Amino acid sequence: MLDLTYDAPTPKVIAGAKHDWELVIGLEVHAQVASKAKLFSGASTLFGAEPNSNVAFVDAGMPGMLPVINEGCIALAVKTGLGLNAQINLRSAFDRKNYFYPDLPQGYQISQLYHPIVGEGEVLVELGAGAGEKPTARRVRIERIHLEQDAGKSIHDMDPTMSFVDLNRTGVALMEIVSRPDIRGPEEAAAYVLKLRQILRYLGTCDGNMQNGNLRADVNVSVCRPGDYERYQETQDFSHLGTRCEIKNMNSTRFIQMAIEVEARRQIALIEDGKDVVQETRLYDPDRNETRSMRSKEEAHDYRYFPDPDLLPLEIEQAWVDDIKASLPELPDHKKARFISDFGLSDYDASVLTAEVANAAYFEQVAQGRDGKLAANWVINELFGRLKKEDHSIENSPVSAAHLGALIGLIKDGVISGKIAKDVFEICYTTGRDPAEIVETEGMKQVTDTGAIESAVDAIIAANPAQVEKAKANPKLAGWFVGQVMKATGGKANPAAVNQIVAAKLGS
Ligand code: ADP
Ligand code: MG
Repeated sequence: MLDLTYDAPTPKVIAGAKHDWELVIGLEVHAQVASKAKLFSGASTLFGAEPNSNVAFVDAGMPGMLPVINEGCIALAVKTGLGLNAQINLRSAFDRKNYFYPDLPQGYQISQLYHPIVGEGEVLVELGAGAGEKPTARRVRIERIHLEQDAGKSIHDMDPTMSFVDLNRTGVALMEIVSRPDIRGPEEAAAYVLKLRQILRYLGTCDGNMQNGNLRADVNVSVCRPGDYERYQETQDFSHLGTRCEIKNMNSTRFIQMAIEVEARRQIALIEDGKDVVQETRLYDPDRNETRSMRSKEEAHDYRYFPDPDLLPLEIEQAWVDDIKASLPELPDHKKARFISDFGLSDYDASVLTAEVANAAYFEQVAQGRDGKLAANWVINELFGRLKKEDHSIENSPVSAAHLGALIGLIKDGVISGKIAKDVFEICYTTGRDPAEIVETEGMKQVTDTGAIESAVDAIIAANPAQVEKAKANPKLAGWFVGQVMKATGGKANPAAVNQIVAAKLGS
């Protein structure tokens, strides 16, 4: 079992003109459920389809149409909850959140305010781990996850005088994952989003595509004086915290960090100037690196939430939840811990290799029954480096895991040197040929025959008497002979053997 220990928060401190200030951040992440059909209709969720081609009557808000819950979406929300160690609520219910928007034909969004499907959970967020460092482990509590419908899209830039509405996204299932205000700095917020994304991708419940908006975050930011947050933690009394602003719809972790920083500085300047922070919804403008007011913060009663009369409360059975639980894949924290203990990897290498489940599976196939550290080096430095250069993903790697494993086997067995292995890798990468066959056909085997190495050393010594004299006086110069022998043998001589023979012949 995974033994999680958390480190104490290390809040980001910003020095104002008068005092030091700390940041407090809570995120509401909207994750599109990886379902082919919408939450309450059978219309497709395919991204990039012809505008208004994926719209059922119920999505278009036609009178008399009734929503029918998509069981697949519920299963994915439950799976997500289980993946975040969260409470699954066997009874939840859908509410109408009423508001007018041109791209919301129903006039309301179906959501879950009072009884969400998932309750409290938690996420382990790791920070600041460069190579060779132990990361800081922080716990971010999840308050709830509820299911809701996405809205459509208004398009204002296609025509000078008209606006258009695309309802393809209307009614697509979203999971809103609400964190507690446990995040204490911009980097931590970004790390939290990436960790959530990683878990969702492992679970297969959301594809995590931030560019397409399939994962986006509303970022709540406030500032407080040192000590206030600890008082809030002790009492869970929000009045110890400052007034927050919500920055809407962020889909880049870089911009999330920048937005938090400028928003915190804006609030600090206001407070130190004797003014109040007004609770409101703001938008971040990356071009000007500033947040701007979008609308004043609305309260739940502004939406006149009420239970949706078209939908019965949602009741699910514990046995069904248990089945979903039994089907959960190994999740990132466990996989990483296992890679460290089974393959002897560093924390950093294990993080890199488990970032994506496909990478982890590839590595495991390469490393199985072999030297784990050597395998990690090859996968991370050679393969990932090369794939990244050409913008390839592991799924279409020209070098299969079986081939890379075989290559590492050849190094370990002393058939080729690590240096020659890079040439073999290159041929394998560009041609897809089998490493053993490449080594055989291209005559790349390492020369370990000491007789052959000895005669190569003798030839170099005989041809360079002046160098020999110098090397005898200064043993450090023996390296020059080693280099010459490696060159003469096309890099195939076993380096350890060459070193030893050169040293013996020079008497150094
Ligand atoms: P609302 O219902 O108005 O959206 P919630 O209580 O649901 O408010 O909180 C929304 C988000 O705001 C949550 O992620 C929560 O962690 C965060 N939050 C609440 N108070 C603060 C605060 N003082 N500073 C920063 N974030 C906060
Ligand atoms: Mg909210």
